[in-house]
Amino acid sequence: MEKLYKQIIEAIGENPEREGLLKTPARAASALKELTEGYQQNINDIVNDALFESQCDEMVIVKNIELYSLCEHHMLPFFGKCHVAYIPNGKVIGLSKVARLIDVFARRLQIQENLTHEIANTLMQVLKPKGVAVTIEAEHLCMRMRGVQKQNSVMVTSAMLGSFRESPKTRAEYLALIKNY
Ligand SMILES: [Zn+2]
Repeated sequence: MEKLYKQIIEAIGENPEREGLLKTPARAASALKELTEGYQQNINDIVNDALFESQCDEMVIVKNIELYSLCEHHMLPFFGKCHVAYIPNGKVIGLSKVARLIDVFARRLQIQENLTHEIANTLMQVLKPKGVAVTIEAEHLCMRMRGVQKQNSVMVTSAMLGSFRESPKTRAEYLALIKNY
């Protein structure tokens, strides 16, 4: 990957031998590896021993989880926040694990719509809750840096499963809760 980055630097008309750029191919390669490490990670390893029995059947919400990903069309960052909610059905998951689960999918080449659904489907499989809702609000640098008109646009995507999909009341409660912060 280092070699390829050196070629890219040449291709854009730069000199990879100048002092400031000497270590750039190595740095860029290791950064990209880190930003795509989701491909090497396994959901079961992360969730393992982080599920707890619980009689709680009220909505659990984790709001404003920082999210960073790369768009698969331009390999440029999109970033923002993710809100996750579920209604337990005997099991709850450790809070920090929700953030790690999000990263498993965010640290790949993604489109926001698929990312949202992958997070929701995974929580559904792992927790078998009564329902799951995931909302992502993100800014895309491929839009903001490339002279597209809508400079300040934020893209919002959501995935509603189980009771969040079936019950308008549950969905409304969720939407109200993620709005007030
Ligand atoms: Zn893009």
